[in-house]
Amino acid sequence: MTSKTLKNVRPMAGPATDLHIVEGRFAAAAPEGAEVIDCGGRILIPGLVEAHTHLDKSLIGLPWYCNEVGPRLIDKIDNERAVKVSLGLHPQVQSERHAIELIATGTTQIRSHVDVDTHHGLAGIEGVMETREKLAGLVDIEIVAFPQSSMMPRPGTVELMDEALALGADVVGGIDPCGIERDPKGHLDAVFALAEKHGKPIDIHLHEPGALGTFSMEEIIARTKAHGMQGKVTISHAFCLGQPDRAVVAALYDALVENRIHIITTGSTSADVPRILELKQRGILTGGGCDGIRDTWGPYGRADMLERAMLIGMKNNLRRDDGVELALEVCTSGGAAIMETEGYGLDIGCRADCVLVEGETLAEAVVIRAPRKLVLKGGKITAQDGTAVVTAP
Ligand SMILES: [Zn+2]
Repeated sequence: MTSKTLKNVRPMAGPATDLHIVEGRFAAAAPEGAEVIDCGGRILIPGLVEAHTHLDKSLIGLPWYCNEVGPRLIDKIDNERAVKVSLGLHPQVQSERHAIELIATGTTQIRSHVDVDTHHGLAGIEGVMETREKLAGLVDIEIVAFPQSSMMPRPGTVELMDEALALGADVVGGIDPCGIERDPKGHLDAVFALAEKHGKPIDIHLHEPGALGTFSMEEIIARTKAHGMQGKVTISHAFCLGQPDRAVVAALYDALVENRIHIITTGSTSADVPRILELKQRGILTGGGCDGIRDTWGPYGRADMLERAMLIGMKNNLRRDDGVELALEVCTSGGAAIMETEGYGLDIGCRADCVLVEGETLAEAVVIRAPRKLVLKGGKITAQDGTAVVTAP
């Protein structure tokens, strides 16, 4: 039954009220006989949005992985590609486990980058597509075809990316055009050509810091403009926006605004990161994600976007309540806006994708991160008291 009344609930920590849900959307009134749920004065927020993760390769549910991987980005990439099969890392099973943990913590939509390479082909894409179908109605999963191992140095990858997009991937991914690809023109031309051919948006991992990242970002901006893809391009990580030379960053902000390019941050501990307060002040759409969790890259992380809001807030040194609220906004409406989610929010007519959280204020909800009392997706209960209604394989 999707007709419900949420009684005694505080939307966005405002005054207590009753909210009604009819046919999966918030409505002015509920029909007689609708299920009534007493929310006990708890805060209601729209569904948490995991806008940058890697569902195909977390090690959740597998034996502990003893990490002895080298320090460079390429060490992690090469190691992961080599050990995936021997670890028993099955993209369908792992993505289902990971997505169910996200459902339990209140996430209602996910953007997942999924590896495409000449070693494993489209196994990741097919596995996550299967999970997407299995969990339809419980969580929305958007798939980014992601050339984790690079495209230019590995012939055949561009063709596989093309196949992945034809098969059902929603977004064209990319990776450090200089640092990993060592061919910025080749890589970015290929990414934008794939986007044009399939009519799909772009989300590029850009870890390159400082001057190198600035150069790559300028190349992405130039192609966004040339291809008329304003509003359709996202840069994930974008560490170069955290560089100390703020005059260079100010010029990048201007160009990002002009071309409506979005930023997704994970609040990474490995680098200086984009400053979410400045992005907000500039009007640059910003989403948040946990990135890979508990994988061969690193042992840390939980599939919990409230925790990610806290980590992004801490990394940005945001201590005031409005700062913590901004970190939460990044992990909710920011990601939803980037993903162009229809009907996101708590207003009448919006899809009833929402989470009951504990706390007196939004900032306290982020800080205490208590188990989520109730999670709804399209008005249907998907998790209660921190446990999803489906069990992981
Ligand atoms: Zn990533």
